[in-house]
Amino acid sequence: MAIRFFGLIPAAGFGARMGADIPKQYLRLGSRTLLEHSVDALMSDPRVQQVLIVVAATDVHACGLSFPSGARLAKVGGASRAESVRNGLRALAEELEADDRVLVHDAARPCLAAQDLSTLIDTVGTQDAGGLLAAPLSDTVKRVDRMDVSETVERAGLWRAQTPQLFPFGILLRALESVQDLDAITDEASAVERLGLRPRIVSAIGANLKLTTPADWPLAEALLKASGRW
Ligand code: C5P
Repeated sequence: MAIRFFGLIPAAGFGARMGADIPKQYLRLGSRTLLEHSVDALMSDPRVQQVLIVVAATDVHACGLSFPSGARLAKVGGASRAESVRNGLRALAEELEADDRVLVHDAARPCLAAQDLSTLIDTVGTQDAGGLLAAPLSDTVKRVDRMDVSETVERAGLWRAQTPQLFPFGILLRALESVQDLDAITDEASAVERLGLRPRIVSAIGANLKLTTPADWPLAEALLKASGRW
């Protein structure tokens, strides 16, 4: 039987560094919110037919938005990103098989390129250890202690992890269920790595910007306009 692909978008954070008075995923980029753009981007590959959007239990914004059919909300967000993802996976446990694949994508990455998504699925969609989009570091990296440089970190072999991150449902759920310190897990791959597996890197061609501060806004606008999604 063909492998099935499901999307999961954790959208239960606030995004305090954006400095807005509503959670950043509900800020508008053109006519649509960040979250709506990110859901559309994750469903741009027809193999992703269903997406679960995990929002906070107290969320009042998401129900007024328009999502493609196949996307639905679950008010099961947790105190950390990893807890939100784990709760979303638990909510899917009745309908998913261990071999189904889950693509976890940040609500704050609306500029994901359709080509990168398809390459990710083509490359690691059938691999047990899964994989993730990432980009090699281009800047020199410093370790800093109270704004003084304490070390220049060897850059070779360092990549910036992005999303989507794609794993077999059974493995990802087991990985997150075994984590005690969910706060320390800032992406899904690191939980899967703790099982002794080695997820594969897929090099992202697009910018796949994660909107974090107000300074990211003009760049996201330019990227969406350039791809005709504004
Ligand atoms: O805060 P950060 O930008 O790293 O969050 C990454 C993603 O995780 C965002 O989509 C955010 O909404 C989500 N998140 C969540 N639950 C939390 C914290 C963050 O779903 N408690």
